This record gives sequence, C-alpha cells and structure tokens, in this order.
Amino acid sequence: MTQAETLAGVVSSLADFDPNALPVALAREAIERFITPIDSLEVVPLRRALDRVLARDVISPIDVPAHDNAAMDGWAVRHADLDSDSPKAFDPIGTALAGKPFTGGVAANQAVRIMTGAVMPAGCDTVVMQELVTTEGRRIIIPARQQQGQHRRLRGEDLSIGKTALSAGRLLGPTELGLVASLGVADIPVQRRLRVAFFSTGDELRSIGEPLDPGCVYDSNRFTLIGMLTRLGVELIDLGVVPDSPQALEAAVRDASRQADAIVSSGGVSVGEADYTRDIMNRLGEVAFWTIAMRPGRPMAFGRIGQASYFGLPGNPVAVMITFLFFVRDALIRQSGATPRPVLPVSVRSTMAIRKKAGRTEYQRAIAQIGQDGVLQARLTGSQGSGVLRSMSEANCLLVLRHDQGDIASGDIVEAMLFDGLI
Ligand code: AMP
Ligand code: MG
Repeated sequence: MTQAETLAGVVSSLADFDPNALPVALAREAIERFITPIDSLEVVPLRRALDRVLARDVISPIDVPAHDNAAMDGWAVRHADLDSDSPKAFDPIGTALAGKPFTGGVAANQAVRIMTGAVMPAGCDTVVMQELVTTEGRRIIIPARQQQGQHRRLRGEDLSIGKTALSAGRLLGPTELGLVASLGVADIPVQRRLRVAFFSTGDELRSIGEPLDPGCVYDSNRFTLIGMLTRLGVELIDLGVVPDSPQALEAAVRDASRQADAIVSSGGVSVGEADYTRDIMNRLGEVAFWTIAMRPGRPMAFGRIGQASYFGLPGNPVAVMITFLFFVRDALIRQSGATPRPVLPVSVRSTMAIRKKAGRTEYQRAIAQIGQDGVLQARLTGSQGSGVLRSMSEANCLLVLRHDQGDIASGDIVEAMLFDGLI
C-alpha cells in the first residue's frame, strides 16, 4: 500500500462494506489495509530495546553454542570404547567445568568428569549421567546400552554463523533481548518510537485537580489511554481536554497532526456530535465515520489527518478501552513496523444465561476461572453499562459473543479473551 491510497479506495475494495452497519472484522480489515508502517531506524543499546520493533534482521555472528558441550552432569567418554551389552570400567583422568575445559587428550577407556555446559573433551562424543555410574576402586563402571551422542549439545545447534536469528519487524520482548545477548550483540537497530497524540473532547469534562462543577465528570479516558499507550511502548503526546467547539477541535487536530504519527481522541463521534466533527476532519484530512456492529462501541471515526492516522473513539470509558483493544492496538503495532500477533481466544463455559442480540458482536466483562471439573468457566462482573469502569476493573476477560450468536444459556461454551497485560 502507498501513502497516496485513500480510505475510500480501501473500503471500496472490501465486499459488503456498509459504514452504517459494519462488522468488527471488516472494520479491522479496512484499518489494517490503510495503515502505513513507519520506516525510521535508530540504533539503541540492547538493554533499552524492550518493546521496540526490530528494524533489520539480526544475523548471527557466531555459532550458538560455540562448542559441543555437555547437557548433563556426568562422564564424557568415547562411545566406541563402550560395550554395547555389558558394563565397562573406565579410568577417570580429569574434570571439565563450564568455562574451564579439559585440555588433555583422551585415550581408550578413559573418562572425563564433566559438568553441564562444559566443552566436550577432544574425541569424546557421549555423556553418561552421573547417577548411572558406580565406582570400583579408582575406576568408574559405566552400564551397558548408552546411546552415541547422548546428553551432548552440538556446536551451532541453536544458531549457526550467518543464519537469521530474528527477522525485521519482530517486537522485542524479554526472550528476544536474551537471544540477541547470546550472540554477543551490543547494539540493535529498531524503529523509532511511534508518536501518538491523544485528547478528550467534551464541555462536561474536568481534569483532575479542577473542581467538579454540576453536571460534570472527571476525564478518565485520557488515563486509560495513557495506560494502554504506554504498554504499547509509544511516545505519548497528551493534548488534554478539548471543549465542544469547532475552533478548539480544529486547533487540537491541527496541532496533533503536526507532532504525531497517530492521533487518538475520545468522545464527539456519536450521532449528535459527529456533524461538526465530520466537517473539520474532512477539511483537514480524510476521515470516515462508521457505526460498528458491536457493543459497547458503535460510533467510531477512522482515517488520516495530514500524515497521521486518526482514531476517533466513542466517549464512554469502557467503549474507549474495548475499541482501543480491537481497533487501535493492532493498528499502532502495525504502524510501528511490527506484525501484531493474534491474541488467541479461549473457550469458557458461561455459568449464567446472557441476553445477546444477533447481528452485532458483544463484549461482556467477566471473570474466568477454573471450575471444579477443571474446565474454564466465566461469570459476568455486574453492570455492563458502557461507562462503568468498575466492572471492567473486576474483570479478567471479555466474553466475545460473536456477530451471529443469539442468547446464551447457562452452561454454553463461549469465546473469551483474557486481557490481563493487553490493556
Ligand atoms: P460522547 O461520545 O462524547 O457523547 O460521550 C459519551 C459519554 O461518555 C458521555 O456521558 C460523556 O460524558 C462520557 N465521556 C466522554 N468523554 C469522557 C472522558 N474523557 N472521561 C469520562 N467520560 C467521558
Ligand atoms: Mg461529548
């Protein structure tokens, strides 16, 4: 996809795309096709690379492990010296420790005491577990039927010189930091952090520290966004609360698009408020207003303003979190230059009946736990109102009640998404 492609062009290529009754999967697909990854490399020390996106393949400069070595504590021998069907005596001639190789030669019927990770002595190809070995005077007795090459790790078994250890586009987690460290690589090329500007809209919103005037609410969306965006490892640009005025909104959006790669706003996209928002957005860029067949959620705006992608989320606090999880999270990972890994759903048994309307995806806050029969089961966490953060806070999963599904009976198996760590 090129930057020049329009959102209208993208959606026209999707069959059955109805912006007024848009299934979740189709909206996700439109967003995925429209997003353009950044490509702007910087080199950082490995210890600062957590949650960054690898910008170039990492090619292994060494063999890992660098030598054949023992996978167990025991005795290193030449397999050819063993008897296949009776025990055999060997002379111990030394010790090989991790980091302290045995440097002598090994002759027929000699064995070297060896510890896990120690380099295999020259000529030895087999390690016999210490628990199997008995002693007889100064000699050791090795039982019959040892496999050639057992308990030995081969040089280059994990990675060999010149092989791709990690491919560009990998999101670097703790495992990847360890893997790169095992290659002795100190600095690593990553994409620069995505800059994400965000603001809340609404005359009724007050910021923490301000008095709560009658009819007003504290702005909580900016704080769930701060949390969710921080977990994505992006750079945050907090533009505060924007009142419901066309001039203020236009100024905020212009400001955001000058600084950021992506803009996330909350509120102001529901039917009553969308009209002037729509005018401004489409003067500054290309933004579509969608009604998504989901609950909570529904209204959402998406497009591009200047060079920045734009996500206009609903105002209700839980709807913000759920639309972020299903639409914004993967999109920002993709825009950061990585390929998002699919979040795997689990099957749970609902312990209660749940009303569900076919024709939309419903996300219900629930607690999943293992039942007495060992099967994962879930119960809802009280009020499912789209403004109720408390029931979101008590939940550890969302039941994902699929588009075509109707009412759920107690005992039915449904899909759930465990969200700890994701949002
Ligand atoms: P809107 O989509 O702007 O009509 O907002 C829908 C509901 O969400 C209204 O009850 C708003 O007061 C509430 N809301 C909007 N933005 C926020 C916010 N940043 N923090 C808390 N509640 C909000
Ligand atoms: Mg509003």
